[in-house]
Amino acid sequence: MGQRGNKLEVWRLTCAFCEEKGNFSLAFHEEKKKPSSNKRLNFDVYQCRNCMGFLHVLWSAGEFASSSSHGLYSYHVLPWPLKAKPEPSEDWPDGMKRFWIQAHDSLANENWDAANLMARSALQFVVREKGAVEEKLFAQINDLATKGVLHPLMKDWAHEVRLLANESAHPEAPEPAEVTPQDVRDIVHFLDLLLVYLYNLPKQIENYRQRKNPGTSSP
Ligand SMILES: [Zn+2]
Repeated sequence: MGQRGNKLEVWRLTCAFCEEKGNFSLAFHEEKKKPSSNKRLNFDVYQCRNCMGFLHVLWSAGEFASSSSHGLYSYHVLPWPLKAKPEPSEDWPDGMKRFWIQAHDSLANENWDAANLMARSALQFVVREKGAVEEKLFAQINDLATKGVLHPLMKDWAHEVRLLANESAHPEAPEPAEVTPQDVRDIVHFLDLLLVYLYNLPKQIENYRQRKNPGTSSP
């Protein structure tokens, strides 16, 4: 115990009831050892110090390969927070993450215009990061579509983001066009899909290739 990988990182846990993060005391611990190896399956119950609710955590060093998002060990928590705060993927460019976080925070707080603008900022960052010509966003989107970086469907969506963001960025007086919550939710959802398509998918395919043919890299 004590080494990273053999110890649960309690700071990662979020209380399902009050959403407090990392503030727990261990209320119960039991473990099961596999007869064939020295791997242990841990059955822990943690009590939230804030609201006194209980979490059941099942975890093991390097066990559940499919969900090993943190590398050395993985864990399952019950109950999972109902309003878990989404976190940006580690495969995304660092410079973009703050716009993405603000887009999601604004959605959660029902600040529709702010979410709308932050989705556009994330998109603007991404098209520059992917090497679009130094032009207005309209031309940049078309440029990336021509280069094959953006799928035609993604190109259409990117233009929708641009148009909807204009309503929030340059409101008409005296009656600004309506930006509905559903529109903004859709825009932010599509932003997530775009990021998966542009960053996560290529990484996953590369990882798959590395696993099949160690030592080679993609063209
Ligand atoms: Zn709590």
